[in-house]
Amino acid sequence: MGGCQSYSGAAETDGTHTLTHGNAHSTNLSDVTLLNLKNNNWQAPVCVEKKPYLHPECVRERIAQGSTDLLTLSALPHGLDHNEWLASNTISFFQLVNLISSVLSELCTSSSCPTATGPGDRVYFWTDESGRKLKCSAPLYTDYALSYIQELLLDEDVFPVKTDAEFPAGFPFLVQKVFLLMFRTLAHLYCAHYPQLVAMEMHPHLNTVFTHLVLFCQSFNLLEPQETEPLQDLITALTHS
Ligand SMILES: [Zn+2]
Repeated sequence: MGGCQSYSGAAETDGTHTLTHGNAHSTNLSDVTLLNLKNNNWQAPVCVEKKPYLHPECVRERIAQGSTDLLTLSALPHGLDHNEWLASNTISFFQLVNLISSVLSELCTSSSCPTATGPGDRVYFWTDESGRKLKCSAPLYTDYALSYIQELLLDEDVFPVKTDAEFPAGFPFLVQKVFLLMFRTLAHLYCAHYPQLVAMEMHPHLNTVFTHLVLFCQSFNLLEPQETEPLQDLITALTHS
């Protein structure tokens, strides 16, 4: 069973490593012009120079408008089993994250993304079955992550399909791990491939799936704050607009 761990390259050390990974896909203000935005009079905040996904016109681009509806959708319906609700949403989110990730598969390569990175110069390490931390390319990390999740979803001891079968005792922990991996998969897309997603007009879909996933995780305490912190500015923009 695999695992995952990240380090913030800019400021953190785990005692043995100090990583100074530079973002190979850092963007500048000229990238914002790639976004084909309609409002030419808009003044870009300083942060948008490096984070085109924070551009107000991009934040507004969503399939479903209003985070309130997505929050309502996330809530456990009355009378439904808590684990059943976690399981069905885990499967649904996986299908969406897998789909969005597959759209980028030809652009996220070991050449374009030799290291699995997230916002804030985070480097995502994959932990193999022996507990070794592997530094790998972004497509390899994504492949490890999505394959791990798929294997887990097909394991009837973890995601039971028979009506009388029970969820394992560690089910909430496994769900947390799955959402961590899905969050990182989307985080990499925001930090490394956002202009490409805009060019493909996929950003409304990404914004919607990401907002729903974050609100769902907030509702059920599935993600640690230190994991989401590098994208907190985006989360605030998406959930308050
Ligand atoms: Zn990539």
